[in-house]
Amino acid sequence: MSLSLCRRLSQRLRQAVATDERLCLICQQPLAPWNEDVICPDCRQQLIVRKEIYHVHGADWFVLYEYDPFLERLLFQWKEQGDVALAPLFLDRRVFRKWSRDRILLGPPSSAEKRMARGFETISAIYEPFEIYFPFYKTSAVKQSKQSAAARRQIDQIIQKKTLYPLPKGPYLLVDDVCTTGSTLTACLDLIPADRVFVLAGHPLWLETHSQNLVVKRQ
Ligand SMILES: [Zn+2]
Repeated sequence: MSLSLCRRLSQRLRQAVATDERLCLICQQPLAPWNEDVICPDCRQQLIVRKEIYHVHGADWFVLYEYDPFLERLLFQWKEQGDVALAPLFLDRRVFRKWSRDRILLGPPSSAEKRMARGFETISAIYEPFEIYFPFYKTSAVKQSKQSAAARRQIDQIIQKKTLYPLPKGPYLLVDDVCTTGSTLTACLDLIPADRVFVLAGHPLWLETHSQNLVVKRQ
C-alpha cells in the first residue's frame, strides 16, 4: 500500500470515528477542538469588527461590524437563501450580554409576509437566546431600499407602536441587524425612548456620516 493511500485511509477513518468534528460554517474547514467559535479564524478575520459606540438621537448605539460585501453576502445567504445554520455566527454574545445587561430588548418592526416566506424571524434568530419584544409594527409593507431618500425620511409615519402589547418596564435596548440609514431605528426611538441601541452591522455611509457622534472608538 502506498504511503499516500495509507494516509488517505487513516484520514477517512479518523473522520468516520470523529463524528462530532465541527466544521467552519462558511468554508467547511475543520475547527480546532479548542475553538469555541462556529467559524474558523480565517473567516472570522474577514469580518470588519467595529465595536464602536455612537451617540445618536438621544441613545448610545453599539455597532459590532461594518456592513461590507462579505457580511452582506453572508446575511443574504442566511436570510434569503435559507441557510439557517449560519445564524449563530453573527452575534458576539459576550459583547452583547455586557451591552444589554439589565435591559429589556426591543426589536424593529418586522414584516409578517417576510417572516412567513422565510419561516423564521431574523432578529429573534440572530439574538438567540436573548428574549426580544416586538412592540412596533409597520402600517404598510415597504422595502426600505426601494424607497427614495425622501420616502425613507418619511418612514416614521408608517411605524407605529402596538397599543395592547404587554411590555415590561424599561430601561430598553433597541436591536437590529443592519443599520442602513438609521431611519427605522430613530422612528422607533421616538415611539419608545431606549437609551441603548445595538446593531450587528453599520453601513459605511452611516458610520461616516456619524463620525462626529463617535464616543468610543474601535476597541
Ligand atoms: Zn472558515
